[in-house]
Amino acid sequence: MQIQENISLKRYNTFGIDVNAKQFAIFSQLADLEELLHGLTPSTGQALPLLILGGGSNVLFTGNFNRLVLKNNLLGIELVREDNQYYYVKAGAGENWHGLVMHCINQGYAGLENLSLIPGCAGASPMQNIGAYGVEIKDVFECLEAYHIYEKTTVQFNLGDCRFGYRESVFKSTYKGQFVILNVTFKLRKQPVYHTAYGAIEQELEKMGLQTLDIKAISQAVINIRSSKLPNPADIGNAGSFFKNPQIPAEQYSLLKQQYPNIPGYPAEDGFVKVAAGWLIEQCGWKGYRHGDAGVHAKQALVLVNYGKATGTELFGLSTKIINSVEATFGITLEREVNVY
Ligand code: FAD
Ligand code: NAP
Repeated sequence: MQIQENISLKRYNTFGIDVNAKQFAIFSQLADLEELLHGLTPSTGQALPLLILGGGSNVLFTGNFNRLVLKNNLLGIELVREDNQYYYVKAGAGENWHGLVMHCINQGYAGLENLSLIPGCAGASPMQNIGAYGVEIKDVFECLEAYHIYEKTTVQFNLGDCRFGYRESVFKSTYKGQFVILNVTFKLRKQPVYHTAYGAIEQELEKMGLQTLDIKAISQAVINIRSSKLPNPADIGNAGSFFKNPQIPAEQYSLLKQQYPNIPGYPAEDGFVKVAAGWLIEQCGWKGYRHGDAGVHAKQALVLVNYGKATGTELFGLSTKIINSVEATFGITLEREVNVY
């Protein structure tokens, strides 16, 4: 296995932040990973002695890495079994997410269509239980296999083991930095259940003038909406939503609603209300803001952007200012969704 020294990570993160990794390697099979991790124990370095990267679309780098950065390139998509209701599809962690979604749609495996056009790799999808347009990974998840960095064992995680929450999982909390996800198996329907009630999907389907509804059409509608609203990282650096949508107690929401009648809120678990963070940020005047090359996207205030040469520290500083101003105005503390290193 070749380990490269002092490699720029600019092309390995969608923010386009130019930091260096002291050591960098790409692994394409488990044996390579085992070789790379050989001898690594918790006592050899910091709490997180290495960083595992997929597509780099949910990270913000704020400085050089004085440690090993590993890019996951474990590939392969396989129909492992089927029963009367479901196809069980296993994807290597390094598979491109949107490529996997397109493959499943073309095969008639239903369930991933609302998650079209999300950047990144299959292996990162359980990390924050990715979600869009009313569907989350947990809705289609069967199991995953992950390699324990220190114990050198492969462990299977079933649905309950992952403790999926809103943009959360056990891999982002309790087991942070301990496992490398190797593959994920999805449970996809033979008879589709359509989710079109969310956001602008129905309007877009109407605009498309379809005769019959199917998973391809829903995927295309989602692709159309996303392409019209979200900055493409190939054109402008970003990591999607920088903050999570906060979930606040219903009483707090009612009070805010009296003061701000247009505040968008959606029922969440345990009597909480999910408030659109983009709206809060926009109300504080940040939409379209730019200082140097760090800014807030003009069409979606939840997305921070790098116009070219912004540093991770500048973007992090901007995110702190946004958190402070939203807190001062609404009494709500925003939490970063992006993984900051
Ligand atoms: P990376 O950014 O490479 O990694 C993210 C985290 O996971 C890091 O902490 C990394 O160490 C860890 N990690 C990655 N792979 C592994 C692995 N195999 N094993 C262990 N740890 C691993 N997210 C949504 O949920 N919904 C959306 O609709 C959405 N839209 C987006 C739109 C745009 C334009 C962009 C840029 C991002 C969007 N995102 C969205 C965020 C992001 O695409 C997803 O979170 C995606 O799953 C990240 O995948 P990745 O491979 O790029 O992960
Ligand atoms: P949007 O449709 O303008 O809606 C704004 C926010 O309100 C969304 O964040 C969404 O929460 C919430 N929302 C809207 N309709 C809802 C409904 N019917 N029920 C419950 N919640 C509702 O959002 P957008 O920015 O264009 O994004 C569209 C979808 O893509 C969203 O699901 C969003 O999460 C996802 N997306 C995620 C990222 C990321 O990086 N995480 C980036 C881009 C887009 P939710 O976010 O909880 O769905």
